[in-house]
Amino acid sequence: MNTNIENNPEAIDTSNYEDLSLYIDGEFLSGDGRHEEDVVNPATGEVFAKLPHATTADLDRALNAAQRSFESWRHSSPVERSRILRRVGELSRERAKEIGRNITLDMGKTAAEGAGEVAACSEHCDWHAEECKRIYGRVIQPRIPNVRQMVLREPVGVCAAFTPWNFPYNQAIRKITAAIGAGCSIIIKGPEDAPSALVAIARMFHEAGLPAGVLNIVWGVPSEVSEYLIASPIVRKISFTGSVPVGKHLAALAGAHMKRVTMELGGHSPVIVFEDADVERAVSIMAAFKFRNAGQVCVSPTRFYIHEKVYDRFVADFLSYTNSVKVGNGLDSDSSMGPLAHSRRVPVISEFIADAVERGGKIETGGSPIGEVGNFFAPTVITELPDDCRLMTEEPFGPVAPMTRFSDTEDVLRRANSIPFGLAAYGFTQSTKNALAFQNGIQSGMVNVNHVGHALAETPFGGVKDSGIGSEGGAETFEAYLTTKFVTQLD
Ligand code: NAD
Repeated sequence: MNTNIENNPEAIDTSNYEDLSLYIDGEFLSGDGRHEEDVVNPATGEVFAKLPHATTADLDRALNAAQRSFESWRHSSPVERSRILRRVGELSRERAKEIGRNITLDMGKTAAEGAGEVAACSEHCDWHAEECKRIYGRVIQPRIPNVRQMVLREPVGVCAAFTPWNFPYNQAIRKITAAIGAGCSIIIKGPEDAPSALVAIARMFHEAGLPAGVLNIVWGVPSEVSEYLIASPIVRKISFTGSVPVGKHLAALAGAHMKRVTMELGGHSPVIVFEDADVERAVSIMAAFKFRNAGQVCVSPTRFYIHEKVYDRFVADFLSYTNSVKVGNGLDSDSSMGPLAHSRRVPVISEFIADAVERGGKIETGGSPIGEVGNFFAPTVITELPDDCRLMTEEPFGPVAPMTRFSDTEDVLRRANSIPFGLAAYGFTQSTKNALAFQNGIQSGMVNVNHVGHALAETPFGGVKDSGIGSEGGAETFEAYLTTKFVTQLD
């Protein structure tokens, strides 16, 4: 097995780790008797920082600040919003390396992936800085000449957002830039287990001159904070990225209070490799993507359907890549895959694999945790498993690639569409016929043919079926943060 674990540095320098705090009404707050949560390094299991939880008074203060600031921010000039967003984009790029290293400390991905996430996702600041100047209404031709009819787009109001730990910078910056660009204020509860990136974001908006109260950051017990904020009459819109069960729960709470939602939920992305695919290319793209962030990616390729004529070659080449993945502490530049973000995910992945093996699956490589320290799990490939095992029906969210065969296009599309997820899908073929059959037949919010091309600032990101409601990014990005007001005037 290819690991770097023995290189786990004995003394990890955490002196430049973010000074963790709440950010409410333009102030960074910590201490003062607030409950503090341990922040654990997933590569070593060591507690290296403390995160203050918001008290109920803090949440009320954030709500009031967001409401007060909304009343002026909603009338701010798009040029002013654009200037602040652009400045944050510049600061993010300058700080990508240090923010990325801190992401490695609290959630485990390699430092290159952490810095890459920050640098690449700074583009959300640029995109929203441009697009916010292009929020338009329209004039509708009247039935009588002395009537003027207009459609105005207005910011929806105070937003509450909840973001997860797997891309702690990316998922937060998307929601913040969309809300702020639209003229909304926002309270965001980030991932308590990977908090540094969101505090870094708050510092950059603070330095860029965002008025106090427009952005507020809180931490706490997720269910308690979300229930409190969603129920508040101050909050008009909810945005969540995370698992399907939590998303359904939060959407139900929001529905009870008639609040809008954007839900970016889990996926279980099918990969269909047709018999006429460029197999070498398919393997090199999919294998690298599979083990990115240790597979803890909502659009990770998670169900591989390989045409029987190219199956043996695809599996052999994929295995050879998998065996070259070097697992180790993300701070070690030799590591190509870090640990899982949580100790709780290790037994979950093991249970998925045990179920597959019990059902006839064959472990081709990996299959178990590695070492005694940290949450390391071996990159795993499993073949010959049935479609109804857990690995093929539930989101695995780990470094596991299940592979199965197909012979008929219609049948493989039926199999790929047979579960409730519909986030991303990948197809590899050199024929227009198969490409069209795949694009038209697959039930998915994002369809990638012969490459991985989604998740850019200028393209919409979102799922169908249980994978979510609404899109983030692209020209659609402000839709969920704007209301439509119709105005008609006589004379
Ligand atoms: P989880 O369902 O407990 O939590 C997922 C995320 O939701 C976490 O960030 C958590 O803090 C947050 N959360 C949980 N309950 C909440 C509540 N009541 N209110 C507000 N936020 C709440 O699962 P987990 O063990 O943290 O992660 C594993 C699962 O989460 C995976 O199976 C995967 O499907 C999903 N997940 C998806 C994404 C994504 O990008 N779509 C990201 C992270 C996790």
